Amino acid sequence: MSKESTARYLELRNRLWAATGDSCWYCGEPGREDCRTIDHVIPRGFEGSSEDETNLRPCCMRCNGAKGTRTVEDLRRYLAWLRTGRPYFTPVQLAWLNDNGWTPPAPFEFHGERLQSQKEATTGNPVVHPSTCPGGEDEGA
Ligand SMILES: [Zn+2]
Repeated sequence: MSKESTARYLELRNRLWAATGDSCWYCGEPGREDCRTIDHVIPRGFEGSSEDETNLRPCCMRCNGAKGTRTVEDLRRYLAWLRTGRPYFTPVQLAWLNDNGWTPPAPFEFHGERLQSQKEATTGNPVVHPSTCPGGEDEGA
């Protein structure tokens, strides 16, 4: 990466992180400076993926590594298991449990979702993520 694109990447990364109070969008952990990444919600190379900021989230290295090319909902189940000890059920297993009268606990809420519902509660308006993207390059997965 050139010096210029590194500076652009850091500017974007720091801005995304500042928007969540310097916490990972997914787990809410304050990311150490050198552990801060940018996650592509729809991973690169997958249909619908883009470098648009609507597809980018501040993400700690651990969540980014755990997410990899998985979906956000897969990461939700993984974090629920990690944080609460809840079993990590696949969608097929959850459907089976539902069909057999077992009610799964409320889904794990991501830090960014909590922030968004707090903002909506105070302003009455849904938060619209900025859609401008200053640079095309970054290092997120
Ligand atoms: Zn995280």
